[in-house]
Amino acid sequence: MSRYDVIIAGAGYAGSTAARVLAENGKKVLILEKRDHIGGNAYDYIDQNQVRRHEYGPHLFHTSSKKAVEFLSRFTDWYPYEHRVLGYIEGKLVPIPFNLTSIEEIFEPEKAEHLKQVLIDTYGMETKVPILKLRENDDPDIRELAEFIYEHVFKYYTMKQWGYTVEEIDPAVTGRVPVHVSFDDRYFQDSFQQMPEEGFTPMFEKMLDHENIEVRLGVNALDHVHVSAEKGEITFEGEVFDGIFIYTGIVDELFGYCLGELPYRSLWFDVQTQEGTFQPVGTVNYPTPEKVHPYTRITEYKHMMASEGMPKTTIAVEYPFVYGKDSEKGNIPYYPVFTDESRKAYEAYVELADKVPGLYLLGRLAEYRYYNMDAITERAVSFAEELLKK
Ligand code: UDP
Repeated sequence: MSRYDVIIAGAGYAGSTAARVLAENGKKVLILEKRDHIGGNAYDYIDQNQVRRHEYGPHLFHTSSKKAVEFLSRFTDWYPYEHRVLGYIEGKLVPIPFNLTSIEEIFEPEKAEHLKQVLIDTYGMETKVPILKLRENDDPDIRELAEFIYEHVFKYYTMKQWGYTVEEIDPAVTGRVPVHVSFDDRYFQDSFQQMPEEGFTPMFEKMLDHENIEVRLGVNALDHVHVSAEKGEITFEGEVFDGIFIYTGIVDELFGYCLGELPYRSLWFDVQTQEGTFQPVGTVNYPTPEKVHPYTRITEYKHMMASEGMPKTTIAVEYPFVYGKDSEKGNIPYYPVFTDESRKAYEAYVELADKVPGLYLLGRLAEYRYYNMDAITERAVSFAEELLKK
């Protein structure tokens, strides 16, 4: 018998949240984290410019989930922050999601008035319309507007971000940033938009600070834990492990890529120090062709904190890459790439996983789902609660 009831691969949201709930219910939990820090891609720290930098790109906490807020608030206080994004369109910076203000800033006043009115009459104020839905409308004015937005907001950004066209990628992806019939220029409209007071990393430190949780950093779980679909067996350090193994990494790697590699999208950040303040808001998107701007967006972390009077600033210029475990700049899997083919390939791995009692896949990478931070928190709490009932 192992000393541990549960072994978890990965100390991000999925792994850390599940660990905490299980530990509080008397389970002895071991977390193996291959990086030298906890927090997954939400990992942040104060850098040389006194800026709280998100090492793996911008993480903005926003939710309408009471359960996620309740759980995380046990490990952090919060400060309000509403993220705003501007998009570089025809040489101007206009609000994204594209909304009524964006229309006013792009079109001549008379035309803008007309387009706004048609949108409001058709969809109503404070509604959200995914670009692919807007493009289906037959009204000539809406059609013209939809084409403009498609061309200047979605077409090239999506191509750069995913390496696929808007039509090839799951509609839910572009549906995350719908056209907004509103003057509300916030990137999100959730009721709770706050950031952890001391940052994400200290929140994770508190979450994992429990007598029943042991965290080993710099340890690749797959060097110690092996799963065999054939034998329906998990081994830990060479011995059969009859506890629970929660895996939060990429699932093809778990099975030695025996059914081929799943597509993931990676990012690489060109992090720069600049004087003063670089841009007017936290993130500026560049939905332009790759040859105009080879990056998708630039994030300036200073905007996400109280930063008045700070002489320097840190920016991260974001470049998407095909994920490859041995690539120089694309070696971290950030997003599953959602096409019909990739979903099928993923399902084949799930069938293997189902043959291993005690093995559970959890999180954005392992479940091949586009979870936001709040959604995976809620999911991991519910998952752990269900597990405890078994
Ligand atoms: N998107 C776009 N242009 C934009 C913003 C978003 O085409 O200016 C599309 C793009 O396909 C992107 C998706 O909408 O991948 C979701 O955007 P979101 O900002 O939610 O992506 P994340 O922050 O998760 O990378």
